Amino acid sequence: MSLLIVRLVVFVLLFWVGFRLWQFWQAKQQPNTHLTHQNKGGSETMVRCAECGVHLPSTSAMKAGEHYFCCREHQASFEKE
Ligand SMILES: [Zn+2]
Repeated sequence: MSLLIVRLVVFVLLFWVGFRLWQFWQAKQQPNTHLTHQNKGGSETMVRCAECGVHLPSTSAMKAGEHYFCCREHQASFEKE
């Protein structure tokens, strides 16, 4: 009878350890995804094309003075006006 109790305790303990490990793994995963999301948002500033109004990252946009453009054609047509 006592052996059955020991087996039950070991089974519960293993289940608890497994559950704690799963919780630990989940907690470890979540801040990482949150951090990378924050980094992505911080490094990529979205700007608006002064000609067509499309939004694009400032790294791939063309800056001409105060204005940003998505391509050279839009920069040229904006300056013509
Ligand atoms: Zn444009």
